Amino acid sequence: MTSKSCVQDPGAWIETTIKDFINTSPENTLRNSEGDKAWVDPLVGFSSGADPLYQFFKEDIGSFHWTPLEIFTKTFPSAQVTPDQLTVISWVLPHTEVTKADNRTETVYPSERWARARIFGERVNRKLRGHVVETLQGSGYDAVAPMLSPFFEGKTSEQYGFASTWSERHAAYASGLGTFGLSDGLITPRGKAMRCGSVVARIAIPPTNRPYLDHYAYCLFFAEGLCGRCIQRCPVGAITEAGHDKEQCLNHLSPTTADYVKSHFGFEGYGCGLCQTNVPCESKIPTRDDVHEEKK
Ligand code: SF4
Ligand code: SF4
Repeated sequence: MTSKSCVQDPGAWIETTIKDFINTSPENTLRNSEGDKAWVDPLVGFSSGADPLYQFFKEDIGSFHWTPLEIFTKTFPSAQVTPDQLTVISWVLPHTEVTKADNRTETVYPSERWARARIFGERVNRKLRGHVVETLQGSGYDAVAPMLSPFFEGKTSEQYGFASTWSERHAAYASGLGTFGLSDGLITPRGKAMRCGSVVARIAIPPTNRPYLDHYAYCLFFAEGLCGRCIQRCPVGAITEAGHDKEQCLNHLSPTTADYVKSHFGFEGYGCGLCQTNVPCESKIPTRDDVHEEKK
């Protein structure tokens, strides 16, 4: 066990913990006969519990949306803690090349690997959240994964419809890992074909620089008036120039893709991700050249 006093560089320690789990643990699996990994090398970022963005999220999404301090003190009610003593640890788990290649060719339903990543890959993500919490706790740092908390709930936002008490993508945005796109996905330096996770901990780690000024900076539609490829990729018209219709999207995920996954792949699941693959922002921060390349 590492003790608090032994941790010289907490940021590097946590980053190594996350990367080692994904890069070396047998838990990182799609559980298919090919023995594919679910995820490749993660990105890791940090933000302060006192970052004003968290208060902004609460005001923008709804009063039910937690600040880091709220979920921390719900979990540790006797803790005497101030927001600046908390760090949000956030990560991005990029899909493998083979999973992305499979889904690129799909036009209505998810590929088997994509559906497996949505279900079994998210189980890996849940285990990673637990592993990060255990590692921190084992060294004397109180920590909670908001998505694993018994207090976590789905909610309805007046402004955005389906919402919840914590958003992994918003934590990743605050932690310098990417900005939103027209389809609501987070565009990261490894693209939008990913899932993310986070843990709130009482540990001092310098925040990661946010190399963007607004929440749509990486999306070509907002930044350059170009692209809109995700609009064409959506099989049910859930993405338009006005944004992402969550209800229409969810209606496609279940029952439509859920029935398909069960009948074609033989497990309980669902998925889509067509707007995350075969688009300029799939695997990188797109540039205008990526749109012009596509037209050739
Ligand atoms: S496909 Fe184009 S418009 Fe859609 S999110 Fe990506 S960059 Fe933005
Ligand atoms: S996940 Fe599928 S249904 Fe939902 S917006 Fe993206 S492409 Fe459309």
